[in-house]
Amino acid sequence: MENSCLFCRIVAGEIPATVVHRTATTVAFRDIDPKAPTHVLVIPVAHHANVIELATDPAAAADVLATAATVAEIEGLDQGFRVIFNTGAHGGQEVFHVHAHVVGGAPLGPMLA
Ligand code: 5GP
Ligand code: ZN
Repeated sequence: MENSCLFCRIVAGEIPATVVHRTATTVAFRDIDPKAPTHVLVIPVAHHANVIELATDPAAAADVLATAATVAEIEGLDQGFRVIFNTGAHGGQEVFHVHAHVVGGAPLGPMLA
């Protein structure tokens, strides 16, 4: 846990979040500023700054993807959805604890703005 990390503090319960699903290694919670009817963030409990670091921990990476799939099922996203890892400045990453955006619930258009 990194005390200065917003999402580590959500994992620890120090900052409230609307949790959709939790496993031993992941937490899925609703984005505070949703961009689609369903907009859930899936994070590993272990702190990794971005998807490049997550890729060095294959078990955690697999767990994040499995939780994203579970969230899609819970949320009823049977018409499809997106899983997005914003990475670095050009990717628009603002929180440096890796998170998969699971977005859906409506047609999303060619790209998520
Ligand atoms: P990024 O741009 O880093 O890929 O996405 C960060 C996401 O975290 C944004 O969609 C933003 O709305 C969300 N976010 C930022 N602060 C909080 C917070 O305190 N709680 C929750 N639930 N989401 C947050
Ligand atoms: Zn963190």
